[in-house]
Formats: sequence, C-alpha cells, structure tokens
Amino acid sequence: MQVRFEDINMAFDENKVLNNISFQIPESELVTILGPSGCGKSTTLMLISGLIFPNSGKIYFGDKDVTSLDAVDRKVGMVFQNYALYPHLTVLENIQFPLKMQKVPKKERVERAMELAKLVKIEEHINKRPKDLSGGQQQRVAIARALSKRPSLLLMDEPLSNLDARLRIEMREEIRRIQQETNITTIFVTHDQEEALSISDNIMILNQGDIQQYSTPTELYNYPENLFVAKFLGTPIINSLAMNEALNLPSLNLKSKEIQMTKTIAIRPENLYEVESKEDALISGTVRFVEIIGKNVTVHVDTEIGEIVATELGFVHKQGDTIHLAVNEKDLLLFDDKENTIQRGALK
Ligand code: ADP
Ligand code: MG
Repeated sequence: MQVRFEDINMAFDENKVLNNISFQIPESELVTILGPSGCGKSTTLMLISGLIFPNSGKIYFGDKDVTSLDAVDRKVGMVFQNYALYPHLTVLENIQFPLKMQKVPKKERVERAMELAKLVKIEEHINKRPKDLSGGQQQRVAIARALSKRPSLLLMDEPLSNLDARLRIEMREEIRRIQQETNITTIFVTHDQEEALSISDNIMILNQGDIQQYSTPTELYNYPENLFVAKFLGTPIINSLAMNEALNLPSLNLKSKEIQMTKTIAIRPENLYEVESKEDALISGTVRFVEIIGKNVTVHVDTEIGEIVATELGFVHKQGDTIHLAVNEKDLLLFDDKENTIQRGALK
C-alpha cells in the first residue's frame, strides 16, 4: 500500500514536532526514517498507524484519505523496540493472538501462525514462552505477530535497538529478507545510519521535524543536499573544513564563483590521499595518532584548522609524521552559508 503525507503538521502543545511535511512511500518498498533522537520519527509512525492525529494536513493510503480513520481500521502491523510479547503465551499463541481477537476459526489461525513461524524461522520454538527465547528470536515472534492479520503496511520503530551488535546485523538482514518475501510496504525507523544504509530502498532523513533529504542510500551518501546529511552518514564522520587560508585552494582548480560561495568544504575520510609536497596538498599537518582496528587504519591528523581523519593511507604512518593530504575534485563537497550543497555543475 502506498502511503502519502500532504502538508502534515504535528505539535504537542507548544512543541512543534513535524513542520508541514509531505512525502510518499511507494508500494512494496522498505523505506527508513532516519534521524537523531527526538526528531519526530516515532510521531510520524504513530500518525501513519492512526494512534495519533495531525493538527493539519492529509494522510492517504493509496487513493484513500485516512486522516481521520481509527487505528483499528487502518490495518497496520507494528513492531516496537521492546517486543511486547505476552509472557504467559507460547510463541505460536503469541503469533495467533491478533487472529484470535478477530475470532478467526482455530484451524485457520493455527495454519496462518505456522506459516508465519516458518517465514520468520522460529518454527523450531513454537511451544516455548518468550522468556526462553533470545532477543533476536523474540523479535522474530513480534514480526510474525505483526504480520498475522495480513496488514497493508508494516511499521517498525527501532526494532533492533535492544539487541547486541552481532544480532542486530543478523536481524536487519532478516527484516530485509522477510520484507522482500512478503513484498509488504515497510516503514522502518532507526537512529542508526548503518542500519538504514544497509536495508532500505529509500531513506528519509528527518531533523527537528523537517525532511532533510529523501532518496536512495547511495544518493544520500554521495550527494548529500546539505551539511547535516553529509555529517549524519558515514563513519568516521566526514571531514568538514571551514573555508580558511590554511587550505591550499590553488591545488583544487575551483571556479572563482565556487570559491566565493563556499563556506565549508567537506571530504569523506576515504577520499583523502597523500602527496609528496605541501604545494600539491590541500592541507598539511602532523599525525596525532593512528588507530588500527583489524584491517581498518584511521589516521588522525592535526592541522591548522583542526583534526582531519583519513582512512585510506595504509599502515605507513606513525605519530609525529608530517603529512600532506590532497583530494580529487570530484570528491569535494562544497556548502554555502546556509549549509546547503553548492550544485557545482549549475555554476557558470
Ligand atoms: P523520535 O522518535 O525521533 O526520537 P518522537 O517522535 O518520539 O522522536 O518525539 C518528537 C518530539 O515530540 C519530542 O520532543 C518528544 O518529546 C515529543 N513528543 C512525542 N510524543 C509526545 C507526547 N505523547 N506528548 C508530548 N510530547 C511528545
Ligand atoms: Mg522514537
């Protein structure tokens, strides 16, 4: 089911949470809403589910205006961070529970629950109670239960936040698989950029109730529309350098109009490389420390304009080395005084 927001405003008393946002989530896609804590992600999900109602604006499911429709009539499945399973019921009973409430005949609901137990790969544990399952297994049950009523949408609010790192990775792949097997339109909320980048067809980045950018993971990473998006995605964080005399701009061959407009230059740590001389470098500095984690070597360089981080320089450096860093022009991101990306191709 396609979901559409049209000029949605939402406030809790004086606290404006969503500022006139409009977007569309295409049928059968997995879309992630990504943003820092408090930016309005859960509020957006609750508006979609019908648990709360907007102050103004319209919500559509397909062509149907559902703005004032109750939650029960919206046919939305939800999964939360805490699994909210019924502790006294078995796995199979938990999965069937929504169907039992709907008075679906027993044979039919057990069949459906078994089918879902297989889909989420929990069929070996159907007679256990939640306390005898791992966090990942409990979340599988919660997903199966959310799907039992054949909802038109699946909403997931930080479903992996309670799991340890390894399980999180396993479960995010599982969520992607289940979504692709069922083809159900899924809206996934997280504050974890890596999770979002790894599973989404499209990502909507929210900050303080405004959509910052809504596009594919690759587009977001390579062509952020503003500095917030550039900084929110990528580890280590993108280097953001205030325009300053310490930068050797002639090494970059920028147009004068570009130099004039630019307030901040941003460079991903993987795009910095080393050159022999200061003249060829954008910036020079001293290695402060070299962080080695397995195959990843991160070099922290002190420069006149603050610390710069580079990840592709290899194992050759040690603390105190003088280092000259350069970047290919195509890997530069330039931002204006409003922290918006300067569309370089459009400049004369
Ligand atoms: P997120 O899920 O992105 O962390 P939320 O959507 O939960 O953010 O919250 C956004 C803002 O709305 C926060 O400032 C939060 O305090 C406020 N808020 C959320 N729910 C309520 C509520 N039921 N009553 C009052 N304020 C709320
Ligand atoms: Mg939330």
